[in-house]
Amino acid sequence: MIHLNQSATAGALSASIAHELNQPLGAIRSNAEAASLVLRSACPDMKLIEQILVDIQEDDQRAHDIISRMRGLLKKRGEIDWQEFDLNELTTTAIKILQAEAMRRGVVVSTSRAPGAMLVRADKIHVQQVILNIATNAMDAMLEVAGRERKLTLETRMTKDSKVELSISDSGRGIPDDQLATIFEPFYTTKPAGTGLGLSIARTIVETYGGKVWASNRSEGGAVFRVVLPLARTG
Ligand code: ADP
Repeated sequence: MIHLNQSATAGALSASIAHELNQPLGAIRSNAEAASLVLRSACPDMKLIEQILVDIQEDDQRAHDIISRMRGLLKKRGEIDWQEFDLNELTTTAIKILQAEAMRRGVVVSTSRAPGAMLVRADKIHVQQVILNIATNAMDAMLEVAGRERKLTLETRMTKDSKVELSISDSGRGIPDDQLATIFEPFYTTKPAGTGLGLSIARTIVETYGGKVWASNRSEGGAVFRVVLPLARTG
């Protein structure tokens, strides 16, 4: 019932792959053009050519990673790579991945984790994708806000009904109340170069693992996204 290759999701995913592939493909093209220019000069710098070729190989690897990540999302439920893992640990890994971008954007990342392991059952890479999509949006929302600290906070806790909750909050511009549900729809975007797919993919993933994700506004300004997943083992 809840596999990911329903046609709407497959359509959304292919649009997203196409969009994401533009970046490494563009880089490959510029690198190839640069190499041609170097080769046409009177005394071509072979070291530079070598470096350009290494860059092209890396761009190609990036394109390959994008495709395999997306292919992973299209698996049927029975083909999902189920793993039991600690959501606290995954949050730490996600923060490491985000840190460089956060620093570039002047965003302070803080975290507060519930004590002990919070074991959930899912494909780790999928859940990581959810965290990265939501956190990247949060950083985007803080870009335009001036004069206020840019703060991204990731918090984990156990809910009263024994589920695990990860909340990702920002000090950005918040979300108009009448858009809190719409933002999860495929192709809804307010960004000039947005795809409007990040949140719809995030929701599809979370629901595949029996969870829920929703957004609200914080009274002190900014938005908070909550992802709730069932514990791997209860009782
Ligand atoms: P995209 O990032 O390509 O626009 P998403 O599905 O990830 O696609 O997000 C949809 C829209 O939801 C964004 O364009 C933005 O308007 C809104 N949004 C998402 N996260 C936030 C946030 N943390 N604060 C404010 N608006 C947000």
